[in-house]
Amino acid sequence: MADIIKNQLTGAELEEENQEILRQYRKLLSVCRPGTSLADRKRIRQAFNFALQAHKDHRRKSGEPYIYHPIAVAQISVEEIGLGATSVICSLLHDVVEDTEYTLADITEYFGEEVARIIDGLTKISGIFEQTTSLQAENFRKMLLTLSDDVRVILIKLADRLHNMRTLDALPPKKQLKIANETLYLFAPLAHRLGFHAIKSELEDLALKYTDPEIYSSISRKLVESEAVRNRFIQDFTQPIKKSLDDQGVNHKIIGRTKSISSIWGKMQKQEVPFEEVFDVFAIRIVIDTPEDREKADCWRAYSIVTDIYRPNPDRLRDWISTPKANGYESLHTTVMSKKGKWVEVQIRTKRMDDVAEKGYAAHWKYKESKSGESGIDKWLNRIREILKTSENDALDFIDDFKLNLFSDEIFVFTPKGELRTLPIGSTALDFAYSIHSKVGDQCLGAKLNHKLVPLSHPLKSGDQIEIITSVKQKPKTDWLNYVTTARAKGKIKSALKEERKKIAEDGKEKLERKLKQLKIENNQENIQKLVNHFKLQAPLDLYYEFAVDKLDIKDLKAYLSEQDKGGIFSYLKNPFAKGPRADMPEKEQYDPIREKLKEKPDTLLIGDSMEALDYTLSPCCNPIPGDDVFGFVTINEGIKIHRNNCPNAVQLMSKFAYRIVKAKWYTGKSIAFLSGIKIRGIDDMGILNNLTNLISSEYNLNIRSINIDSNAGTFEGTVMIYVNDTQHLNNLIRKIKKINGVKQVSRIGK
Ligand code: MN
Repeated sequence: MADIIKNQLTGAELEEENQEILRQYRKLLSVCRPGTSLADRKRIRQAFNFALQAHKDHRRKSGEPYIYHPIAVAQISVEEIGLGATSVICSLLHDVVEDTEYTLADITEYFGEEVARIIDGLTKISGIFEQTTSLQAENFRKMLLTLSDDVRVILIKLADRLHNMRTLDALPPKKQLKIANETLYLFAPLAHRLGFHAIKSELEDLALKYTDPEIYSSISRKLVESEAVRNRFIQDFTQPIKKSLDDQGVNHKIIGRTKSISSIWGKMQKQEVPFEEVFDVFAIRIVIDTPEDREKADCWRAYSIVTDIYRPNPDRLRDWISTPKANGYESLHTTVMSKKGKWVEVQIRTKRMDDVAEKGYAAHWKYKESKSGESGIDKWLNRIREILKTSENDALDFIDDFKLNLFSDEIFVFTPKGELRTLPIGSTALDFAYSIHSKVGDQCLGAKLNHKLVPLSHPLKSGDQIEIITSVKQKPKTDWLNYVTTARAKGKIKSALKEERKKIAEDGKEKLERKLKQLKIENNQENIQKLVNHFKLQAPLDLYYEFAVDKLDIKDLKAYLSEQDKGGIFSYLKNPFAKGPRADMPEKEQYDPIREKLKEKPDTLLIGDSMEALDYTLSPCCNPIPGDDVFGFVTINEGIKIHRNNCPNAVQLMSKFAYRIVKAKWYTGKSIAFLSGIKIRGIDDMGILNNLTNLISSEYNLNIRSINIDSNAGTFEGTVMIYVNDTQHLNNLIRKIKKINGVKQVSRIGK
């Protein structure tokens, strides 16, 4: 917003201006936290001099020296947002790179990497609002990415915007409207999100002043007109409360606070009433001065005093002390009936809560920090980063506003690591998966959206954070094409389906070759083409595919042969019916019970004693222990794996890979410990963990690997992983655990 105008001021006027600049600078220094070190003050001085020099020929639209603006932004950063020395420096320099001939390299040279990085972020995002829509999406993305890098960028930007709004009068009406609207849909929600209530209200009021000047002036006029009556009412209303609080020795302050103009306007619209009928134009706020450990009790004490005097409306009690709002707001709200028959909202909070409510988390962390200067600020910045990243509740709802106003055709979503992705509107979890990598897409099983499980067809909206769940067993399906919007995903799915079809067809080709041989049909191009035509397919590949998936089989071939034989079409066949259909047609493999299968196996693998010598391992899926009925499964890379017969995977292994099954039997030599798990459920009892571990380790002499107990509403569920010798050993233990007081159910894991 810098404008260069020729200097037309007299020497005396200039001197006066310089005095004013210095005065403002000293005011800034005075609000910098007392903890600011000498070195920091020196750096702030340097930044001030640098900015003064850089902007020396610039003036604001109002005609004032430009430097007033960076000084004011720095002051807001400290005083109203709660930032520290580095942010003061960055605020002072925030327009230098954008508006003067100085470069980022200059900033780096004089002020170091950290400051330069923040200035870079500020310079980048300030372009957003100047450019065309197509560029905005990209810049917005950059802004968010920068923002997760260092939240000070967005906080200084907020201070910048607040000062620009306060001085908006100087701009032409068209610009005023544009800036006011941006403020409404981006900066005010952002301030709200971060808990800067005072800034949020001020931004909204200032915006209303330009978007709806008539309404703004009419409401503010009415507020002024009704002030005397209101003050008298407040006086009468609070007087008995004050007396009672004083009597009980509660250190407090009572304020009658008018609601912001924009919130009154909001109520007028929502309730469709004129100004005079908005009942809560003001609220009474009782601010208690009390130590932190007595906050809650004292607030409720004040509540009790208020409601002893005035009857409360039970529907309008809000306790944000027990459960603070997501942005950190804490307060107790009640609405009571005054003696004059008018509902009055009463807010009860402590001084600390009041500061946090007005100034956001910065104030909160100031309370937290003792003398360790920057650490409180750091904690607070981290917290803000968290708020901006989290996608629970209404988090990031300002992006929705953004979307509605600017980029109605795009949505912004996040990876689990907080990386931002832009997708066309209507995109689904599957589109997102393909946007990450085609392999992630191909193996997509579903997704976790803001930690909740959703199907891969789930449509996404701005602000969603998506974690894709994959499985190596997953493959793209034809109906996936209905679930995606992006061309990229569609293309990838199609090519994967084609690839898959080819692979399957390969098997089908062999299968068909065998059948043809069986039927003594010559396998040549001509015959294949005849079959393709007969089955109304497009290409040999399709024919192979149909055979591979058993849509066509030997029956169909035979039917075709007998139909065609009379016409002699297959006259070149070698003895087509010489033998008739073969009797030894492969039958569908029959399912054999596991036991039956194992009976057929001649050799038995002895397991137990010399584990190391033999190339086998105990499968972690069912953790077999000596005494269990087991079998061995020959794996490709990991030797023989031992499973329990009742392992959930056993049936599948047996029926699919019967030839890889080996019989196995325990060889009981000396005792070896095997890992096994038991699940315990019961009624929660203080001593339950102690009793359990006592029994298992000391009394029973077993080795516990892990013990995990979750209790929930009086019940508990626990998992214990222990080393046992055999099933008998384990069963004895289970019997004993069942006898512990409170234990209701004990079972072995994996059964
Ligand atoms: Mn600025």
